[in-house]
Amino acid sequence: MLAYLDSTEAAYVRSFRAHVVALPPGGVVLDRTFFYPEGGGQPADTGEITTGDGGSVPVVGALRSGPQVLHRLGRPGPRTAPLRIGSEITGTVAWPRRYAHMRAHTAQHLLSALLFRRSGRRTRSARLSAAAGTVQLEPEGSILPEPEEIAAEFGSWVERSVPVSVRFVARSEFDREPGGRSGLRPLPASVDPVRIVEIAGVDRCPCGGTHLRSTSEIGPVTVQYGARDPTGGTRVTFVLAPDPATPTRSG
Ligand SMILES: [Zn+2]
Repeated sequence: MLAYLDSTEAAYVRSFRAHVVALPPGGVVLDRTFFYPEGGGQPADTGEITTGDGGSVPVVGALRSGPQVLHRLGRPGPRTAPLRIGSEITGTVAWPRRYAHMRAHTAQHLLSALLFRRSGRRTRSARLSAAAGTVQLEPEGSILPEPEEIAAEFGSWVERSVPVSVRFVARSEFDREPGGRSGLRPLPASVDPVRIVEIAGVDRCPCGGTHLRSTSEIGPVTVQYGARDPTGGTRVTFVLAPDPATPTRSG
């Protein structure tokens, strides 16, 4: 079960109990997980799995494997007994890394939305890192405003502490009203329900990533435009200010 998808608050769970359901070579599959597997431009989580007897194994990455997450394991700590199917573990997500990705991911949604509003150009792809991100815009559309202007508009949405929400809608409902900047790459027909991430008043987008509760946690950004790529698309990069205090919860 991909528990990190459940709600906005689920993205803030950094420690959780789960049971081992499979042990493929070099990894473990759990019955529920809050580790984000690499995908959609957002890097995978890392962290640790601890066992009831005090053992620990680092989680060095996570991959989506069908409906499950394969947690890639590093070298176990000393006196750590091998994991067994059915045993209970505690998973702990490496928080500063994950929270940085949540900030960058939410910043990307807001930036993509503002760029779309101003130019009609949708985001073709995005790549995120801990402190920055890149948005690749489609070529069709009007001229972009100056990057400083976009950054200032971005800042006004951050200052207003606009809520970010997650909800699931039936596929038929989504198809009737997919939202402005969606649809550049059609969702696979098998996606139902559709997970919608909404920044109130500015963006609504199907996404399976982890995001913030509020735009206020993003903080200010700087924005730069790169050269046009051979297909006429434009690369837009953004850099976040250093991390503010990080609110978390356990689950
Ligand atoms: Zn997202």
